[in-house]
Amino acid sequence: MKHCPKCGAKMHPDDTFCAACGHKLSDDGRYIIKKRSYFFVGLISFFIPLLGFIVSLLSKPSNPQKARVSFIWSLLGLMIYLSIFAILFIFFFSILMEILGLS
Ligand SMILES: [Zn+2]
Repeated sequence: MKHCPKCGAKMHPDDTFCAACGHKLSDDGRYIIKKRSYFFVGLISFFIPLLGFIVSLLSKPSNPQKARVSFIWSLLGLMIYLSIFAILFIFFFSILMEILGLS
């Protein structure tokens, strides 16, 4: 016995439609692909935060989940890039100070 992934009603193993809510089972295959593509959206957003923010803005009206994923990951990527940049800046700044004899 399998259950409808949408409403949880019991279904026959060879049913393609849920008798209770009309949910099409083939939709689930697409849903998994969608979820997988969010993984790549997140990955791209993480490595290219600017692109992630653009994707987030563009997909907000039609796909809030995708917008949220891209926004969170681009924010995370941006924070990591900024902290790397800050560490490098402090590092080179301290070398510069030492060269100039100011430390
Ligand atoms: Zn159902």
